[in-house]
Amino acid sequence: MKNEKTSNMTRKYVVGLTGGIGSGKTTVANLFAEQGIALVDADIVSRQVVEPNTKGYQAIVEHYGLQVLNHDGTINRSKLRETIFSNEEERQWVNQLLHPLIRTEMLKQVDEATSPYVIMVIPLLFENGLDSLVNRTLMVDISPEQQIKRTAIRDNVLPEQVKSIISAQMSRDDKLAKADDIVENQGEVSELKTQVLFFHGKYLDLAKQ
Ligand code: ADP
Repeated sequence: MKNEKTSNMTRKYVVGLTGGIGSGKTTVANLFAEQGIALVDADIVSRQVVEPNTKGYQAIVEHYGLQVLNHDGTINRSKLRETIFSNEEERQWVNQLLHPLIRTEMLKQVDEATSPYVIMVIPLLFENGLDSLVNRTLMVDISPEQQIKRTAIRDNVLPEQVKSIISAQMSRDDKLAKADDIVENQGEVSELKTQVLFFHGKYLDLAKQ
């Protein structure tokens, strides 16, 4: 097994679910949830760690001042993204602040989960080295054509915008080489369910060992 790592200090078995934008991670994650499996979603956690009155929130406001806030006092995440987009030093500062907070919160949610194993949904699992947190990795794979089409429809954006996001992520081949398991999402959602049920059975067995 390629990604059998030990830094997940919890005793629970964790599967990291990844894939490019619009590959079908959310759709696949929801199918696991239908089987009673707890989900820990990196996108949700990355918002939770900058909610008002958190350590992340306080550090960002101290660093960037009140102009980084929305009128309701929450952090303006798109403004923060813009600020760090073209400034490598600031990007590193924010990442060094948030990445440990995100890891800690994700592991806390894993600890609190009561299902036999847990699915962590992490878009940039390999890019950010978060595969060290999980016992096994599952990638949702899709052709670039299908990926661009589905994402453009879902997000109501131009294909070119999707292409530029895809090109900033790890390549499909590199991810395929790293993943332990692969769900193929070229076809119908009904085909996803069959694959999810297969992997669910496999993870239940692995979690028992
Ligand atoms: P991700 O979470 O990886 O960004 P989503 O699960 O949101 O991807 O899927 C992207 C879009 O494609 C969504 O609108 C979703 O409903 C749709 N979708 C996912 N899988 C399929 C499929 N097999 N057939 C048709 N549409 C799909």
